[in-house]
Amino acid sequence: MAETTLDRDPNCLFCKVVAGEIPSNVVREDEALIVFRDINPRAPTHVLAVPRRHIPSAHELTDADGPLLATLFTAMRAVADEAGLGRGYRIVTNVGAAAGQSVDHLHFHLLGGRQMSWPPG
Ligand code: AMP
Ligand code: ZN
Repeated sequence: MAETTLDRDPNCLFCKVVAGEIPSNVVREDEALIVFRDINPRAPTHVLAVPRRHIPSAHELTDADGPLLATLFTAMRAVADEAGLGRGYRIVTNVGAAAGQSVDHLHFHLLGGRQMSWPPG
């Protein structure tokens, strides 16, 4: 059985997206991750890069996840290139309710196509 099915939380929204049980607009995928469009986009380009394995947030990452993180960032670079985001883009991950995390499965937001302000609210 694949690791991806072993590391699943049956109550997790993004585990269901990974499994194809909830439809999504996938822009990139491989054996370790999927990148799909955010259902409520906050910028002209707004995708979520998600490991297939259920990891609740960046707070639970370990040294062993280094290769997975590299793969996620490489995938986001490819999406940014394809979307023509050469002027800049933002990658952000919210950790915990106080930071606005609403889905407890690690995801990186990739936002671009408009001027960004700083700091985030
Ligand atoms: P966060 O609030 O940082 O946990 O981000 C969760 C993101 O998931 C939000 O930007 C939502 O718009 C997005 N989202 C929730 N459900 C879906 C879905 N079914 N497909 C795509 N994006 C979703
Ligand atoms: Zn999950």
